[in-house]
Amino acid sequence: MTTDPALERQSLRAARIAAALQLADEVRGQFRQAAEHARVDPATLRVLEEPRRVVRAAIPVRMDSGELQVFTGYRSLHNDWLGPTKGGIRYHPGVTEEEVVALSSLMTWKCALAELPFGGGKGGVVVDPQRLSLAELERLTRRMTREFAYTFHPERDVPAPDVGTGEQTMEWIVDEYTRIHGRHEPAVVTGKPVALGGSLGRTESTGHGVAIAAEEAWKRIGGSLAGARVGIQGFGKVGSHAALAFRAKGAIVTTIADVSGTLHDPKGLDVEAVIEHARSNRGLVAGFPGVDATAPESVFGFETDILVPAAMENQLTKQNANDVRASLVVEGANGPTTPEADAILRERGILVVPDILANAGGVIVSYHEWVQNRRKERWTRDDVIRKLEGRMRETYARTRRVSEARGIDLRSAAFVVAIERVANAADDKRVPPR
Ligand code: NAD
Repeated sequence: MTTDPALERQSLRAARIAAALQLADEVRGQFRQAAEHARVDPATLRVLEEPRRVVRAAIPVRMDSGELQVFTGYRSLHNDWLGPTKGGIRYHPGVTEEEVVALSSLMTWKCALAELPFGGGKGGVVVDPQRLSLAELERLTRRMTREFAYTFHPERDVPAPDVGTGEQTMEWIVDEYTRIHGRHEPAVVTGKPVALGGSLGRTESTGHGVAIAAEEAWKRIGGSLAGARVGIQGFGKVGSHAALAFRAKGAIVTTIADVSGTLHDPKGLDVEAVIEHARSNRGLVAGFPGVDATAPESVFGFETDILVPAAMENQLTKQNANDVRASLVVEGANGPTTPEADAILRERGILVVPDILANAGGVIVSYHEWVQNRRKERWTRDDVIRKLEGRMRETYARTRRVSEARGIDLRSAAFVVAIERVANAADDKRVPPR
């Protein structure tokens, strides 16, 4: 076992590169599998498989020590036929071009499926934000904004937070953008603080949307969500708000897991109390009074009706897919189910609501934020949540109709709906005529 931090960082990066390549392969596989069912000309499909443009930037930053460090940043603009490219910027030491490209293509399909006037984009900087001071992070973000100055634009490319970035990052981008262009333009990013034009309801939007998707899917399996038992893996921004939304709909959250362990109580956990406990326990659920936490990976083995993987990618694998004791899996995280696990769940008759449908609530409310900024309006939280609910239910219904009509699963149906919508926006300027 190595204890050299440089070697450990190298092996972490190697593992991340392998994971990024796996994700890229999975996204390509999902696209190709669905493309067979899409009524789209093969030439257009070949264009849609590739990102339209990928920008790579060297980002020099003066560190607090006076030393100059050069970071690498990427922005992938996968497709913009339906509108400005939309997608987060991640700060993580394992960022790779392949990962950014794969995630940007998922954004294209997610936005198209929900009928948003956006294309797909994604950005990333190879950096461990935990190792930078706040001042260094600010200088990095401002310099990155200058390097991508001709990409970021309210009508061309609209970033948002992702892993390792947040409201503060978005605030710095807006400020630097204002300096460069000489006008205040909050619509250049979403996920801003509410005081700077962020939308009410954005924080809870993804988790809330997950519960709505589950409610729609559960109608055909168990009827009403009242009394349904829910297990959630990941208790961060998505998982904790999903838990609250499930509770509000009368479901019982029986299992909650995060990196620190799994809590299980067949009578139902007090979600608010778990959130309160995590808040005072570095965000972790283990140690919650009255429940002995088991290992994090035990989460999938507990009997529930609905299982929500909301932690990270590749969690349901061929090793544990047979342990799942739920009738419905709703993907809160991006890419939580490997293709092998997906096949096992399908064979076992377990319905899977795919990520691009189940976790679209976040980008739907990002769209609401963008519209409010463009129109100089301010909507109430109730307005935002009502519009989110309507769009999630319509998107679910559209996907289910295609799934039934073409005899394909919900994942392929979601891709088919999205691919056909983007392809219909193609014209001869984009796809060379035959
Ligand atoms: P987060 O960092 O706030 O929370 C992640 C949670 O997962 C934490 O509770 C962490 O302890 C837990 N976790 C990590 N590894 C785990 C493991 N191996 N076992 C059990 N728990 C584990 O992140 P988030 O914003 O909630 O995002 C979660 C997922 O949802 C990611 O895949 C993200 O890409 C996706 N997503 C997020 C949003 C959003 O609006 N935040 C929108 C769409 C998709």
